[in-house]
Amino acid sequence: MSQEKPLILIANDDSIYSKGIRVLVEIMSEIGEVVVVAPDTHQSGMGHAITLGSPLRVSKTSDFGSNILSYKCSGTPADCVHIALTGLLDYKPDLVVSGINNGANMGDDTIYSGTVGAAMEAYLMGIPAIAFSQVERGWTYIEDAAEKAKQLVTTLMQDSKINDAPWLVNVNIPNRPLSQMGEVKLTRLGRRHPAQSYITQESPRGETMYWIGAAGPALDDADGTDFHATATGHVSITPLHVDLTDHANLGYWAQTAARLNVPTGAGAP
Ligand code: MN
Repeated sequence: MSQEKPLILIANDDSIYSKGIRVLVEIMSEIGEVVVVAPDTHQSGMGHAITLGSPLRVSKTSDFGSNILSYKCSGTPADCVHIALTGLLDYKPDLVVSGINNGANMGDDTIYSGTVGAAMEAYLMGIPAIAFSQVERGWTYIEDAAEKAKQLVTTLMQDSKINDAPWLVNVNIPNRPLSQMGEVKLTRLGRRHPAQSYITQESPRGETMYWIGAAGPALDDADGTDFHATATGHVSITPLHVDLTDHANLGYWAQTAARLNVPTGAGAP
C-alpha cells in the first residue's frame, strides 16, 4: 500500500454520530487515508473495557460519504480499535486518532475515558495513537479544534514519529478560535478531587435510580499540569504510558513481599 499518505484509523467514545468525530474525519482525510471504526452508541466513561461476554455487531456505514470507509460497532471504544486491528482492516494503520471528545479528559479522567481507552488499545497493539478532547462540552469552536488537531498530526508526521516505536499522547484543546489558542504545552496529568455525590431519581415504577455524579474539580492543577495549561488557554499534550507498576515503592514492597514468604506459624510450640 502506498505510504504517500499515512493510514489513519479514527475512533471515539461519543459514538459515530457525534460532531467531534465528523470534523475529525473530515480534516484528517485532508492529510491521510482515513478509515473509521466507532461505537454505534454513546460510550463515554467506558475506559479501556472490552466486551468478552457477548458478540459484537460491526457494519459498514456511509455516514462519512462514499470516499471514506467507515464501520459502526456495537462495542466499546477499545472494542472498535481491537476489532479493527485484529482482522477488520487488512493493513496496519500508521496512526490511530481518537476523538474529538465532547469535554476534557485531563488528570484522572484518562482512566475512565473511552476516548483515551481507544487510543490506548492502539498503543498496546503497537501503533502510535493520539486522543483529542475539547475542554468544554458543547462544540464551540470545534472546527478550530479540528484545525489544531490537523496541525499537531502534521507536525508529528514531519518529526518522523509516525512508524516509530508506539507512543500515546493525550491532547486537550481549549474552546477558542485558532488565532486565540495559546501555544502547545507539554504537560503531566493533574489530579481531581473525588467525584461529586450521586443524584437520585424515582423511576415510573417507584424505584430509586442513581446517576453517577459529576467529576470533581481539579485538586492538582499546578503549573505543568494539563489543567493549568488549558485553564490558561494553551493546548495540552501529555505523553502517556500504561505500566501501572508503583516503581517508586518497589523497595518498600520488596520487604513486605519477603515477609509474605515467612510461615506465620513457623517455630510456634
Ligand atoms: Mn466522550
